[in-house]
Amino acid sequence: QKPVPSDIVISRSCVPKPIDCLAREVGLMSDEVELYGKTKAKVQLDIIKRLQAQPDGKYVVVTGITPTPLGEGKSTTTIGLVQALGAHMKLNVFACVRQPSQGPTFGIKGGAAGGGYSQVIPMEEFNLHLTGDIHAITAANNLVAAAIDARMFHEATQSDKALYNRLVPLSGGQRQFSAIQINRLKKLGIEKTDPTTLTEEEITRFARLDIDPESVTWQRVLDTNDRFLRKITIGQSPTEKGYTREAQFDITVASEIMAVLALTSSLEDMRLRLAKMVVATSRSGEPITTEDLGVSGALAVLMRDAIKPNLMQTLEGTPVFVHAGPFANIAHGNSSILADKIALKLVGPEGFVVTEAGFGADIGMEKFFNIKCRYSGLRPHVVVLVATVRALKMHGGGPTNLPLLEKGCSNMRKQIENAKHFGVPVVVAVNAFKTDTEAELDLICNMAKTAGAFDAVRCSHWAEGGAGAVALGQAVQRASEAPSNFKFLYDVELPIVDKIRIIAQKIYGADDIELLPDAQQKVERYTKQGFSNLPICMAKTHLSLSHEADKKGVPTGFILPIRDIRASVGAGFLFPLVGTMPTIPGLPTRPCFYDIDLDPETEQVNGLF
Ligand code: ADP
Repeated sequence: QKPVPSDIVISRSCVPKPIDCLAREVGLMSDEVELYGKTKAKVQLDIIKRLQAQPDGKYVVVTGITPTPLGEGKSTTTIGLVQALGAHMKLNVFACVRQPSQGPTFGIKGGAAGGGYSQVIPMEEFNLHLTGDIHAITAANNLVAAAIDARMFHEATQSDKALYNRLVPLSGGQRQFSAIQINRLKKLGIEKTDPTTLTEEEITRFARLDIDPESVTWQRVLDTNDRFLRKITIGQSPTEKGYTREAQFDITVASEIMAVLALTSSLEDMRLRLAKMVVATSRSGEPITTEDLGVSGALAVLMRDAIKPNLMQTLEGTPVFVHAGPFANIAHGNSSILADKIALKLVGPEGFVVTEAGFGADIGMEKFFNIKCRYSGLRPHVVVLVATVRALKMHGGGPTNLPLLEKGCSNMRKQIENAKHFGVPVVVAVNAFKTDTEAELDLICNMAKTAGAFDAVRCSHWAEGGAGAVALGQAVQRASEAPSNFKFLYDVELPIVDKIRIIAQKIYGADDIELLPDAQQKVERYTKQGFSNLPICMAKTHLSLSHEADKKGVPTGFILPIRDIRASVGAGFLFPLVGTMPTIPGLPTRPCFYDIDLDPETEQVNGLF
């Protein structure tokens, strides 16, 4: 067999078809498409209305076993599978994937365009800025952060009257409330629109959010693996008059605004969600929202283009939507509902939409079902679970022999069981590496079938493109016709602690959970504030079914520590932090960026993978 060239060499060797041609091929009208150069376009949301009556295609979600830090090929398999279904089996297809974060691209893991002969192209466009959605989220998120601290500062340094006069300034000799301020008055129960008629008590209530600085849960974000931002002190310049505060940065993809983008159903719905985000609590215990800060409209403006899915293509010319972000460990890590919905209409009833849920089935897939499907109302027909020899050997405890591989298959068995909790047929895709032996690949397929998979197929799409995933495509097609009996893992109306315990016990295999003091306090606060009926988005390591990254296979006999809980009220979930999970990664000693460079002669990017 010929050696497979590097990802960037393969990507560059293929000339993508002009994106407006692809858009026409998949049934988009020219006025529904906004071109971003020759290889990327945004798709307007009006199309949902136009295709309302069209029946949906088949919906497939790709997940995986508990991976090694390098990833086991979910993105590669997602792309290989659509290449097989589309270019080889001649079905209508769409892949719906997430926009990579620059954290991993320049850190350890590299890009997320897939790999080998199964990639989204051009991969440097895909892996770097794309059309700027992540940058828009960074801008919107940090505008909220700036609004919170500036507001606390102004309230601390001004009288009620002075604050009011600045918040409702004189214009042409008159004071007028903005639309957002009228919403705030309504929330306070003050049915007045004339700013001159407020009583002193009403002026104080209106002008002072009275945010408790200790209660601020909104963090600043950056799309860089910058570990030194995990804990910072802000406000140290003398101009801030001593109002310093400990704060932190998260990675941008963990921003609630990324989750809003992924889970929203329309521009109007996004505007409402962006207004509902709770950033802190007032000293009297009231939740403070982005609408209270007056910033919600500006957020919608910053996110106006980001809400439109991005159209790209695979190496074999099949269409791809790239929308919303990764990190199923510290975010929900699924691509957008809007992209999936548009794609399902575009492929029609015989077609397939393949989407990817991040990391192992214990986190990305669990959140795909319990959060994304709950909000979208969509029900997948098939789960594809990606397994590799290298990761299963790691779970078995060593790289060399078949008995260790067999032992490591326990992790795959547990992840199949996890997928089956949701009542959808599971096809295991064994992603073959050139170092794998026949005996190893056969063993995994057999173990998967014994564990209750609908089917298990080895595939070689990394080395051979779509042709290497035709058997997988056929198995997925058969599974999509099998009966499925979809169900959620928990009822959202259950108390917060019960929902967390169900995930911990049924999916992770924990004996129980332990709520640490901050988490206990948040359970009480969120229950009192009326947020207890939201689904749960656990922030847990992706490298183990448990909270400890070095516990491989199927850990047992552990108690899952819940350190703290945040509420993403706009996105619509509660966000428990398990153990010491950091919400912004760090860089290793030798990050990927050592190999990345630009050739000034050809303007080509080198070293991305
Ligand atoms: P995941 O989506 O599960 O994190 P990726 O699809 O991004 O994983 O793959 C991780 C890395 O492994 C990528 O660099 C990809 O090119 C590489 N890879 C995937 N499958 C194979 C394979 N069969 N042989 C060699 N490398 C592979």
